Amino acid sequence: MVKLIVVQNADMNTGDKMKFCPKCGSTNVEWVLPQIWSKWECRDCGYIGPLIVEDGKMAEEIRKEYLKKQNKI
Ligand SMILES: [Zn+2]
Repeated sequence: MVKLIVVQNADMNTGDKMKFCPKCGSTNVEWVLPQIWSKWECRDCGYIGPLIVEDGKMAEEIRKEYLKKQNKI
């Protein structure tokens, strides 16, 4: 029991990784269904899919490109 708690805490500590939308770079992403953890939904652009970005720099680039496109429209 004690070990299990320790493992969970360790996961929390490495959980600094943010989740970003691969389409717009938003952090406003959630699991569509908790049971189907491989599917994500973006509340900002409506993206639904199995891909998620955990790299902050990558997300920044995606965000820039996305905003550029938005401005053109
Ligand atoms: Zn998005």
